[in-house]
Amino acid sequence: MFLFFGTRQRRKALGTGWFHCPYCYEQRQYEQVETRTWFHLFWVPLFPLGSAQESVRCTVCGGQWAPAVLGSHPAA
Ligand SMILES: [Zn+2]
Repeated sequence: MFLFFGTRQRRKALGTGWFHCPYCYEQRQYEQVETRTWFHLFWVPLFPLGSAQESVRCTVCGGQWAPAVLGSHPAA
């Protein structure tokens, strides 16, 4: 019998908003996502591996940052 299994990443959108992108160095729109790796068997996700990872992605440059970036406000 042939078993097909492996891992896949699933992304869940948590929200969007505006933040100060450290790369663009300007106010940009971000997309906050939760990424989780799932063990799957025959393309059916069975259980998650490890904990979910949250990241904030700049919709302009595509840079990914830790959620802590949302709280940083550089001195103007
Ligand atoms: Zn950016």
